[in-house]
Amino acid sequence: GRMDAPGGNVRVVVRARGFLPRELERGADCLIKMNPTTQATTLLVPNDTDPASTRSKTRKVIEEKIFTFDNSFWSHNKEDEHYAHQEDVYNCLGEEFLDHNFEGYHTCIFAYGQTGSGKSYTMMGTPDQPGLIPRTCEDLFQRIEEAHIETPNISYNVRVSYFEVYNEHVRDLLVPIQPNQAPYYLKIRESPTEGPYIKDLTDTPVKNISEIMRYMKMGDASRTTASTKMNDTSSRSHAVFTIMLKQIHHDMETDETTERMARIRLVDLAGSERAKATEATGARLREGSNINKSLTTLGRVIAALADPKQHRTGKRNKDVVPYRDSILTWLLKDSLGGNSKTAMIACIAPSDYDETLSTLRYADQAK
Ligand code: ADP
Repeated sequence: GRMDAPGGNVRVVVRARGFLPRELERGADCLIKMNPTTQATTLLVPNDTDPASTRSKTRKVIEEKIFTFDNSFWSHNKEDEHYAHQEDVYNCLGEEFLDHNFEGYHTCIFAYGQTGSGKSYTMMGTPDQPGLIPRTCEDLFQRIEEAHIETPNISYNVRVSYFEVYNEHVRDLLVPIQPNQAPYYLKIRESPTEGPYIKDLTDTPVKNISEIMRYMKMGDASRTTASTKMNDTSSRSHAVFTIMLKQIHHDMETDETTERMARIRLVDLAGSERAKATEATGARLREGSNINKSLTTLGRVIAALADPKQHRTGKRNKDVVPYRDSILTWLLKDSLGGNSKTAMIACIAPSDYDETLSTLRYADQAK
């Protein structure tokens, strides 16, 4: 719906996951309802929001908070006829975004939410249940193969990069971590024509699905390794998987070629709870405030892009969108705004009232 609105290049969706074993064990209540017809997501406000006492018998719902987004994906119980599988999320969002890429637009899909809410499940998934990233890669190469037969005058060139932003520093995930060596960070530069870019970031050509999947897994492993070494940094870093799709049109009559480039950004954001850093001091406090800065700035950038008023006053728009306020938004500037399409997937846990409310509010301001 929203994509067709004038200037409306932002789509906001929400996905609720099922109970994890620890939630089942403590007999947690599901505080989320979704209406597949209206796309409304309802958060039930328990009379007792103290997370320490989550025994269902003492909980009574006293109020409901209702939010409406472009899509609500109900991935809570598989028995439900409206259960949103990985495939459904791809068909509803990923496929459409890939259409835009083939039309020459940049796209950006973010997963937002607290740690454990299903961000990496949604973006990366598991070997059995692949998420948006592997499905996008597969569909991409399938389309290229088909196009090769149908439109032989167009050739394609695909490159991939994978980096993470941790504590306002950029790390290349396609450079393997050396044992006993601290991770090193890359510098950010600005080109007068291309805007901000990461100096020396690995940006590698890929010819087929197995090659791109190999890089995806390599980057993922690098993120996990660093995370284990450095005390679970992955929930505190933003991972940005980028596919650069170049289409080269060859005009048979004039023998001229024209190129079109689309950037596909797929982003697994830091856990939103990390932004608070309550009781933290020193390095943790700084880290928390950096995460807060990135997520707050991202929210403001997306809200500015989604606001039709901003689109009407084109000139003012440039001054208002605060890209420069965080490394993440600064680096993604080319993929946010302009002719780009952006989607925010708000991932929510079923029984965590405070974090879920904060995620739904964040998503709501991005509409
Ligand atoms: P995050 O990336 O937000 O920290 P994860 O994606 O790691 O969260 O999800 C936490 C756990 O919940 C994982 O074990 C994951 O496999 C599981 N999970 C998340 N979303 C779903 C879902 N929609 N269906 C089934 N399992 C899920």
